[in-house]
Amino acid sequence: MKSSPPSTNVIVSVAVPSPLRRAFDYLVPQDINFVPVIGARVVVPFGRQTLIGIILDLKNSSTLAIEKLKPITQILDQQPLFSTSLLELLHWASNYYQYPIGMLFDAALPGWLRKQQSLEIPATTIPKTIITANSFELNNAQQTAIAAVQSSFGTFKTFLLDGVTGSGKTEVYMQLIAAALQQQKQVLMLIPEINLTPQTLQRFEERFKTPIAVLHSQISEKKRAMAWLQAKAGVAPIILGTRLAAFTPLLNPGLFIIDEEHDLSFKQQDHFRYSARDLLLKRAQLEHCPVVLGTATPSLETWQNVNAQKYQHLILPERAGKAVKPEIEIIDVRHKQLQAGISNNLLAQIKQHLDNKGQVLLFLNRRGYAPVLMCFNCGWHQSCKRCDSNMIFHYNSKILRCHHCEAKTYIPDVCPECKDPGLNTVGLGTQQIEASLKMHFPNANIARVDRDSINNKKQLQEMLDKVHDQTTNILIGTQMLAKGHHFPNLSLVAIVDIDSALFSADFRATERVGQLITQVAGRAGRGTKLGKVVLQTTHPDNPLLTTLIHKGYHEFLRLLLEERKFTNLPPFSYQVLFRAETKQPSKANQFLQFIKELLIQHQPKVSCLGPIAAPMEKRQGFYRAQLLLQAAQRKTLQELLAIITPKIEEQKVAKSVRWNIDVDPLDMY
Ligand code: ADP
Ligand code: ZN
Ligand code: ZN
Repeated sequence: MKSSPPSTNVIVSVAVPSPLRRAFDYLVPQDINFVPVIGARVVVPFGRQTLIGIILDLKNSSTLAIEKLKPITQILDQQPLFSTSLLELLHWASNYYQYPIGMLFDAALPGWLRKQQSLEIPATTIPKTIITANSFELNNAQQTAIAAVQSSFGTFKTFLLDGVTGSGKTEVYMQLIAAALQQQKQVLMLIPEINLTPQTLQRFEERFKTPIAVLHSQISEKKRAMAWLQAKAGVAPIILGTRLAAFTPLLNPGLFIIDEEHDLSFKQQDHFRYSARDLLLKRAQLEHCPVVLGTATPSLETWQNVNAQKYQHLILPERAGKAVKPEIEIIDVRHKQLQAGISNNLLAQIKQHLDNKGQVLLFLNRRGYAPVLMCFNCGWHQSCKRCDSNMIFHYNSKILRCHHCEAKTYIPDVCPECKDPGLNTVGLGTQQIEASLKMHFPNANIARVDRDSINNKKQLQEMLDKVHDQTTNILIGTQMLAKGHHFPNLSLVAIVDIDSALFSADFRATERVGQLITQVAGRAGRGTKLGKVVLQTTHPDNPLLTTLIHKGYHEFLRLLLEERKFTNLPPFSYQVLFRAETKQPSKANQFLQFIKELLIQHQPKVSCLGPIAAPMEKRQGFYRAQLLLQAAQRKTLQELLAIITPKIEEQKVAKSVRWNIDVDPLDMY
């Protein structure tokens, strides 16, 4: 940390919460309350406002004339809140995600600290940790994994801990945490959704008698700020949280863990669109820590890094002993009468499982929701002539569109292959299924569970209680239900509509459905009844599907990677998505067209797809369009964005359009 220079004019460069992409210089008055340090909060005048900012730099000159500089009002912290490596991470993130540095502190600093002027520093004595011993012998795979990670303590190295549910990953995490704690180091662990997986915290509390700082968006601002400060002071040896916890300062960082690394919730989908996983990897590099990425279903990005030997692959083979794998059955729904998307075969199986006092879970993969026009007689679906993709039905304009080029076509009256008039869109709602099942099973208790119906701990607990005491017979839900829960009486799981994932406009939909099937099937075992997984499809011979079922997730990944390589999609290329929306119909499109011209002028090597209308073109009164940039190298895009973004912002029109930049977008549709 630099000390203040021995100059008469002390100038500080401050990040203030403003959309302008730069820091602002201020004078430090002689009689200021504390000595300014980099990483401390200051109160500054900004236009007519008074704002809290962070000191990014100390200097003795400015590009502005000294008389023009305003003085800072107050220094809030005697000690920096952010270490140099954490500030370096924030600079990196600001550049990488094209997000103004001052605004980025909205994510990096708990709200309470962005407002509260004085700090209550929590007790600073570092407690003695008591670790409860585990009651069993670790198996060989666990021992190997632990030894590998432990031997790289103090250095940056990434590990993929690859093991199905119940293979002992959490036990490996806990052993590694114990080892780090013994060296007086802190461990930061990210999990997808803390409310949905309260059992992780519970197990940690049983194992470690030590403060655990818990950070997520559902705890009060003050509590979160306290946890943050405890982590910073080194008083909390373990830090557990959702993606926002990735910015928590640590006194002695020793190890980072990301559980369920493939999970989409690690990517923020609005404002500061960062990936907490990627950011934590960067942080680990800066802070010389090993990182463990744990999952039963690695993402393709991670898998490619394993193939390239950038990550070390640690495998926990499937659970030993009594675990029985469920039978996976594909129901071919071609030529079949469906009721709210459910075949008679599946209805019969639901009845049988209910009669045997089993519970039934029906999944509807709503994320991949993007209706494809399909013939239910022969399985024909409209694909684009110029691209390796399906055309998507647009409700507003009643046409089919390709999302990779600009091709459009009208909807045929009959199937072009078999002349059957039974053309239908694939894309169902959970409510429709619920209504239909109520009719078929009037005595069953049916619960619909999705992010609209469950969003806090209490609702979740009520839902889980009803499942556990068997009040609920049929559960209908989204992928959310696949996370971490053990339903001991679940005997049948059906994925109602695999096709919407196999033929989605979203090229990542197949990866996700593969993860879902694997996660669901992995639930079976000791104490669980799960006997059957049923998949409904009009493409029973789809090679990805059959590979997944007969050869497993790793082989499925291999095939999927080949496909991505062939189509030149991530992880074999890198993407940036520009989104724009306006009240006037074509203005968003024009704005993106302007950006496209700028981009091509500066870098002919990138490919620009679009601008095209967003799949749901009109939303909340706004017309939405998008422009996708793709290049073989990350660097090409990064260099281009650094030049282009300020040029876009200079434009007057940029202020009248709602637009954003999404680097490494995960959800484009
Ligand atoms: P995962 O995190 O991969 O789902 P866990 O670590 O939760 O797996 O382990 C699943 C269950 O098996 C837990 O009850 C855990 O205590 C137990 N377990 C883990 N490792 C072993 C082992 N080596 N021997 C016996 N039981 C184990
Ligand atoms: Zn047909
Ligand atoms: Zn096309």
